[in-house]
Amino acid sequence: MTATIPTRLRGSLDRALLNLPFYEPAHRTVADSIEGWCSRHQPFDGEPGPDDVDSEGRRILRSLAADGWFAPLNPPAGHREPGDYRTICLIREALAYADDLADLAYSIQALAATPILRHGTDEQRRRHLPAFADGTVVGSFAVSEEHAGSDVAAVALRADQTATGWLLNGHKAWIAHGTIADLHCVIARTGPGPGALGLSAFLVPATAPGIRVGERIRPIAPRAMAHLHFEDCHLPADALLGRQGAGFVIAMEVLDRFRLTVGAAALGFARRAVDAALGRARDRAIYGSRLLDLATVKASFADMEVQLNAAALLVTRAAWEIDRGNRRFARHSSIAKLHATETAQRVVDACVQIFGAAGLVQGSVPERLYRQIRSLRVYEGTSEVQRATIAESLNLDRATPASGESRRKDQRA
Ligand SMILES: Cc1cc2nc3c(=O)[nH]c(=O)nc-3n(C[C@H](O)[C@H](O)[C@H](O)COP(=O)(O)OP(=O)(O)OC[C@H]3O[C@@H](n4cnc5c(N)ncnc54)[C@H](O)[C@@H]3O)c2cc1C
Repeated sequence: MTATIPTRLRGSLDRALLNLPFYEPAHRTVADSIEGWCSRHQPFDGEPGPDDVDSEGRRILRSLAADGWFAPLNPPAGHREPGDYRTICLIREALAYADDLADLAYSIQALAATPILRHGTDEQRRRHLPAFADGTVVGSFAVSEEHAGSDVAAVALRADQTATGWLLNGHKAWIAHGTIADLHCVIARTGPGPGALGLSAFLVPATAPGIRVGERIRPIAPRAMAHLHFEDCHLPADALLGRQGAGFVIAMEVLDRFRLTVGAAALGFARRAVDAALGRARDRAIYGSRLLDLATVKASFADMEVQLNAAALLVTRAAWEIDRGNRRFARHSSIAKLHATETAQRVVDACVQIFGAAGLVQGSVPERLYRQIRSLRVYEGTSEVQRATIAESLNLDRATPASGESRRKDQRA
């Protein structure tokens, strides 16, 4: 753990935004609680070495569970969402501000539980969700493969039906918490041909015979991440989650929901960068004055403020669209993710610039954020895929004007 914690100048969440009609009093309470939790748990801030990343990931996850942050993953029967998405966004934003691994622990646990929440039988929910909520089970959501990243319909891991259940053979790639998960939610091919329709979802315990953690991945921002191998991995019949053939829909439903929360995490990283840069600009003596007294430096903070406001409003709107039951929320999720992650990347880069050489020292807050923010433009749908999805939602060939058409469809929530 090398990084120092900067003085908190502005806080991880935008209080003025929380007072807009998008939010209810309960959201302001959550905001206070999660910020309180983060300050009580610092210093967990910093980055573990490659050998400590698993234990640190587990420790933070258990700590979140112990304080009830995963309780919504085990809701009463009939509830099919892991809480409301404005709340999930506030939690991710505050956690990302405080610590990359805390955001990862929270988001992957919620991501992995959501397919069970939405598609699990009563028995599957009873068996797994209490353990997700109390942190005794760590989950992963395993969709990607070496040749099936953006193109989810290309998933090739096979699941063949046997007399007693299923037999899995193939590989998964880039799985967050792959090294520490106790239960993987795996998308595999059960149908004969290629394409989206032949996929199904399975719940695979890490102890199942034939599953093996392969190469440990060392991403630029340390995480418990791995490729998984399945060699004659036998599963009982009740390992199937949801309908056979519904795997693509299950994966997309989860990703459509969590994509916008990636935007919230991006905001957290960016706000942390701005606070660190502001501290630096105030303290840095230059030309007999302070760095902050330079007009171009002030202008840089003004630009960042504008960009963060826009990103925060898009994330809030997307979360509100799901929470109010708009069935066409996915386009807002893509818009929010695209804008917030691209903005956060620019903001973090501007903060490194304000630090000068000091921002390029390994373990410094700007250097760490510079590495941590990068993957958000890749996972849960790359920026290019978001652009393609947004363009598709505009019905460009038919609608005139496109925005008017989209607006009318949004109103039919
Ligand atoms: C930190 C991290 C954590 C991850 N965690 C998980 C996890 O827990 N579970 C999981 O299943 N996966 C996970 N992934 C994998 C992630 O989902 C994929 O990396 C992502 O979907 C992109 O796939 P790819 O890397 O194969 O890139 P590719 O799909 O090969 O894309 C390569 C390039 O082509 C572009 N491209 C692709 N399609 C289009 C298009 N239609 N139009 C224009 N350009 C296009 C992309 O934007 C990109 O620039 C994680 C990845 C990272 C980096």
